[in-house]
Amino acid sequence: MMYFKECPKCHGDLFDGEDLHGRYVSCIQCGYMRDLPEEIPHPLAGKSFVIDAPKPAKKRRKKVAQAA
Ligand SMILES: [Zn+2]
Repeated sequence: MMYFKECPKCHGDLFDGEDLHGRYVSCIQCGYMRDLPEEIPHPLAGKSFVIDAPKPAKKRRKKVAQAA
């Protein structure tokens, strides 16, 4: 896939690739590289399930734990 004129450095053309670190885009013209956030396919898309229900908000107190 190509991203034309998307390079933030030189406004050149980016193409995407993939290595063991994940997906990235790279600029043809200047060699700029940027990692892409992983696009995880959502097999459960559409289904709703609660992983962690929000708890009622309480007053936040900072507890400073200092091991002396
Ligand atoms: Zn560039």
